[in-house]
Amino acid sequence: MSNSKPEFIGIFGGTFDPVHKGHTEIIKNLFELIPLDKVIVIPNGIPPHRQASVSSEERLKMVSSAFKSSEKVVIDNREIKKKDPSYAISTLREIIEENPEHSLVWIMGSDAFAEIDSWYQWEDFIKMINIIVMVRPNHEIPIESEAYKLLQKSHTIDKDSLSSGKEKILLLKIRPIEISSTDIRNKIYKGSDVSEFLLEEVNELINKGNLYQ
Ligand code: ATP
Repeated sequence: MSNSKPEFIGIFGGTFDPVHKGHTEIIKNLFELIPLDKVIVIPNGIPPHRQASVSSEERLKMVSSAFKSSEKVVIDNREIKKKDPSYAISTLREIIEENPEHSLVWIMGSDAFAEIDSWYQWEDFIKMINIIVMVRPNHEIPIESEAYKLLQKSHTIDKDSLSSGKEKILLLKIRPIEISSTDIRNKIYKGSDVSEFLLEEVNELINKGNLYQ
C-alpha cells in the first residue's frame, strides 16, 4: 500500500469505437463540475454485448492520442489485454483492491445507465460504488426501466457526498454534446467528412488506417 494522499478517482469505460469529441468534452466538463483528482479511462476489450468494428489495439491507440494532453486522465488497458469478455464488475473489483486508500466513482452516460440491468451481476455492481450518470441528449431513461427504479431509490443531489459511501447515483447535467460513435462510423462508411467530431490525431489515425470504410 502506498502512503499517497487519498484521491477521488473516476472510472470511465467505453467501447470508444471510435473515441470522439463527445468523450473528451464530457470528461473536461466533469472535471469542472466534480472535484476529481483523476479519471481512469478503460477501453472495453471484447464487449459482452457487441462486437467492435476495429481491433482493440487500434481503439486503444485512438483513445491514448485523444486524451494525451489531459494530465489528469490515465488510460488503462487491462480489459483490452484480457482474452475473455471483460465485465465491469470484475474490473471494478480489481480497481477497488488496487486503491484501498482512494475514493472511486463510476462514470457513464444516461444511455449506458438505462441499460445497466443487462450488465453481468448488475445488482452487486451498484452496491459496490457511487455512480455519476451524465445526461446525454436524446437518451431518456425509460420510466418502466430498472435503471429508473434504481435512480428513484438511490438518487442524490449532493455532489460532495459522492466521494464517500456507496450505492449513490448522481444525475449530472453536463454541456450537451450530440455526437455518437455509431453516427461517426455510419458517416465514414458513407464517405462523409467527420473531422468536426474527432480530435485531429484520431482523425489522422482513422485516415491512415482506412478504418471504418
Ligand atoms: P455507440 O454509438 O457505438 O454506442 P458512444 O458514442 O455511445 O458509442 P461509447 O464508447 O459507447 O460511445 O461511450 C462510452 C461512454 O461515454 C458511455 O457511458 C456513453 O454513455 C458515454 N457517452 C458517449 N458519448 C456521449 C455524449 N455525447 N454525451 C454523454 N455521454 C456520452
